[in-house]
Amino acid sequence: MYDVLIVGGGVAGLTAALYSARQGLRTLVVTMDIGGQLLTVPRIENFPASPPVSGFELVSSILEQAREFGAEIFYDEAVGVEEVEGGFRIKCRGGDYEGRTLILAVGKKPRKMGVLGEDLFAGKGVSYCAICDAPLYRGKRVAVVGWGDQAHEAVAILRNYGNMVYVIYSGRPREDDRLMKELRELGAEVMTGVKVGEVVGDTVVRKLILRGVDGGERMELEVDGVFVELGYVADTGWLKGFIELNERGEIVTDRLGRTSKEGVFAAGDVCDMPYKQAVIAAAQGAIAALSAHNYLRRLRGEPEIKGDWRKLKP
Ligand SMILES: Cc1cc2nc3c(=O)[nH]c(=O)nc-3n(C[C@H](O)[C@H](O)[C@H](O)COP(=O)(O)OP(=O)(O)OC[C@H]3O[C@@H](n4cnc5c(N)ncnc54)[C@H](O)[C@@H]3O)c2cc1C
Repeated sequence: MYDVLIVGGGVAGLTAALYSARQGLRTLVVTMDIGGQLLTVPRIENFPASPPVSGFELVSSILEQAREFGAEIFYDEAVGVEEVEGGFRIKCRGGDYEGRTLILAVGKKPRKMGVLGEDLFAGKGVSYCAICDAPLYRGKRVAVVGWGDQAHEAVAILRNYGNMVYVIYSGRPREDDRLMKELRELGAEVMTGVKVGEVVGDTVVRKLILRGVDGGERMELEVDGVFVELGYVADTGWLKGFIELNERGEIVTDRLGRTSKEGVFAAGDVCDMPYKQAVIAAAQGAIAALSAHNYLRRLRGEPEIKGDWRKLKP
């Protein structure tokens, strides 16, 4: 059994791993990827003491630090959790892992459209990351589903690759809407008052079935790709009933990263803290790891460390 079992290899989980492993605790990170959302960020300008770097570079250096102190990483997806004697078990697709304490740092995932064909064609024409996948669609016809800054950024990226871009939005903004003007200036064709009903294709996406939001009028739009830009959600269904979640599925924590279950901590974007930023997720990871360490000390009958963590240097 590991001392600290961390789920999530984004900036929060990796920082938790760095802190935990540096305190000499046997630490495992179980994650689907290294970097999480930061993998989609080409340039981060607001991470203190770091020159502007890509998200990939930032998380790679935290990973290296965590590994230097002995943190282990397994690539897997957690799908269930339970309490066991002396700790917790995370059930993953490839096996189970156990830890005396648990740190949940599972971040957020792109919101799906929730339509027929979306899952079937994920990675075969359906994308949730314009910065990652735009080069694959150079010069093609693509749709961006969504509105706001996220959609705007996706359109700008896709137009840079010479794509014909349709923006599909279920709302009805006014003609003089700022974003509407900007999207048109970028050369996008904006379709409002419609939503995607189905993604259709053979081995890859070929077209979208669209429906008018009012009358249900049916249209077909031939595209090679669809970029879903609908924001991010906490994907915590597998934690329901285990710990307290708020109405958005975020994990409710106190200022020490403690969840409603003793021995289970949480960090990063998945928490109910309203500010979602890399430096905040990193700080929450550190807090969760220090709290987990104190919890383990309490279990062993040792006094908690309240102030000077320098004592804990290996
Ligand atoms: C487009 C964009 C631009 C951004 N720009 C900035 C910026 O300039 N500056 C800034 O400070 N912040 C920025 N952010 C926000 C920042 O990326 C996030 O606040 C931060 O990455 C959150 O880190 P996290 O570790 O909490 O979660 P995430 O990055 O979401 O990582 C979660 C991790 O958990 C893993 N995971 C999830 N579920 C499971 C599971 N069931 N089993 C196993 N593993 C799982 C994922 O694979 C991932 O590794 C941006 C975000 C986006 C989307």
